[in-house]
Amino acid sequence: MNIPDIIIAIDGYSSTGKSTLAKLIAEEYSFLYLDSGAMYRGITLYALENGLIDKEGTIDEVGLRAALPTLDLDFSTDGTYIGDRCVEQLIRTLEVSSHVSPVSAIPFVRSFVDEKLHAFGKRKRVVMDGRDIGTTVFPDAEVKIFMTASAEVRAQRRFDEMKMKGQEPVMEEVMKNLLERDYIDSHRETSPLSRAADAYVLDNSDMTLHEETVWFQGLCQGKFGILE
Ligand code: C5P
Repeated sequence: MNIPDIIIAIDGYSSTGKSTLAKLIAEEYSFLYLDSGAMYRGITLYALENGLIDKEGTIDEVGLRAALPTLDLDFSTDGTYIGDRCVEQLIRTLEVSSHVSPVSAIPFVRSFVDEKLHAFGKRKRVVMDGRDIGTTVFPDAEVKIFMTASAEVRAQRRFDEMKMKGQEPVMEEVMKNLLERDYIDSHRETSPLSRAADAYVLDNSDMTLHEETVWFQGLCQGKFGILE
């Protein structure tokens, strides 16, 4: 099946499997996959490593604003880079996860990321996941999906994923972080997480990945007709 040159926006709560579905779609239809959360995570890692977030979690906004223009944050086939250093593993730790939502609530941080995302979107055939892709970054995206799942299912997935990466997660901490991020992401003033009015809701609490891809194909067939 082919799909036209479009932008696919996948938003939703933390650990709903947005990136797993997005990567699969990208592979299947030769789209570029972009993980917008990785940008916010990269900025957060940079802030932590450079003393711009103190022990209490207070962010030095003046310092961060001054540093951002020189921050060389980019994607490569093997993940996220700061300069020539691959930080893909480092940005997935619980430490980064527990600081990323306050960092991404800062308006100038969002403008910095939005500018990069817009540049990638110009070429179309892009599938992007995040929190505000269908509402703010690409409000005209041709396909919008809003993913959700029960908190228990999401925490278990996140826990298993961290274990697989050799980390030693504690379930209570994973759940706490998930709920905290959901709360901050949905309640911030700039581009809060919310479902775009024209987004299709995908609750995958009880779905296999295969069922999700079948659901996506059905959605595209409904939207674009029977495709070769
Ligand atoms: O997608 P992921 O869980 O890696 O995103 C990490 C964090 O980055 C989110 O919890 C959210 O605070 C922030 N984010 C955002 N807007 C996006 C993508 C991610 O605010 N478009």
